[in-house]
Amino acid sequence: MIKAITGTKDILPIDIPKWKYLESIVESTMKTFNYKEIRTPIFEETALFSRGIGESTDIVSKEMYSFVDRSGTSVTLKPEMTASTVRAFMEHSLGKQQGLNKLYYVSPMFRQERPQAGRYRQFHQFGAEALGSHEPLIDAEMIILAHRIISRLGLNNIEIKINSLGIPESREKYKIILKEFIKPHFEKLTEDSRKRFDTNILRIFDSKADNDQQIMKDAPLLIDHLDEESLKHFETVKQILDKAKIKYDVDPKLVRGLDYYTHTTFEILSSSVGAQSALCGGGRYNLLAEQLGGNPTPAIGFAAGIERILLACENEKSLNLPEDNIDLYIVRMDKELTAEAYELSVIFRNENINVELDYLSRSVKAQMREANKLNAKFVLLIGGDEYAQKKLVLKNMETSEQIFFDINDLISIKEKIIN
Ligand code: AMP
Repeated sequence: MIKAITGTKDILPIDIPKWKYLESIVESTMKTFNYKEIRTPIFEETALFSRGIGESTDIVSKEMYSFVDRSGTSVTLKPEMTASTVRAFMEHSLGKQQGLNKLYYVSPMFRQERPQAGRYRQFHQFGAEALGSHEPLIDAEMIILAHRIISRLGLNNIEIKINSLGIPESREKYKIILKEFIKPHFEKLTEDSRKRFDTNILRIFDSKADNDQQIMKDAPLLIDHLDEESLKHFETVKQILDKAKIKYDVDPKLVRGLDYYTHTTFEILSSSVGAQSALCGGGRYNLLAEQLGGNPTPAIGFAAGIERILLACENEKSLNLPEDNIDLYIVRMDKELTAEAYELSVIFRNENINVELDYLSRSVKAQMREANKLNAKFVLLIGGDEYAQKKLVLKNMETSEQIFFDINDLISIKEKIIN
């Protein structure tokens, strides 16, 4: 039998209410902050991601689902939304229509990662991107927005980490200092970290290997080598967060994997989801639009992993979803009344009442059992002596009250059901 591809997951009907609920919280919170939804294609030209995210990042160097299509173009299933959003922003000149574009999305993403709990090859993210403003106000807003959504989902065991990567000039100077510090320890680093030494030295801070961490424990920190302006920007972000009563920790070792970050970066972690504890990550990417051939455009965004957030919600039992139910189950007592029962279902469905009935020639008892299983609020019985006397019986499944209606008085039945 053919199975789903490793690292992908079916979302079955039983799980859909959680997804819909989360999506509704995302949508309504984005609305309160005035972010507008954007949807971009599932696949893009490969060059968009290799140029935008950076060749040396894990995503581009080993995780992208890329293939050459029949016309010979290399295309890639999107591994993240920022590059696609910036492409759409530039392609449609959104910056000309509005000084600041506040956008959000909910979308599947694709990365060929080693599958493990909380790490999939097709996963889903929601996120926001604000393009057009340099102001630290919008850096803080991103964190406040992400935090607001996560709070509305009832999650408590969370931690916000923030850092500043400053501007490229101060970062380049710092990289030289960091290189000098690491050089004497180079041979002791893991192979991955040795590779990063030349390609993406800051990411050595991300290594989970004990030995690497031991070496990096005393490493000089970027935050101590930031220029005046970057420091001032970061200070203002922190002040706004303080005023908004958002708790955070400054983590000078938070570097994040992507090349395009400048200034503020942040992560929201949960202690309720095991090893893959990052629920959300984001940061400022003032250089990306230019890197992709557009006008310089200051911007900041975040992306949050839906699977992980739902796992945290499950582990913290934070979601109080209403029970699934239907309004009406039509029980047909005689098989000959199948057509009449179906006709009634059509009439009530046209009145936007949620109706189910039997399609499996089941007995009356089995139909009642099904009505219970579906949590039907009412059952309409059609058949028997009552039907011979031109009556229908409506049973309230909660109170067991039975009301008799004239067969033609469907309006009264409808009133009873919806009130
Ligand atoms: P990133 O785009 O790598 O900054 O990731 C942002 C968020 O997306 C992470 O904090 C995770 O919650 C989620 N995420 C990233 N990669 C995966 C994956 N392979 N499987 C599930 N969730 C992921």
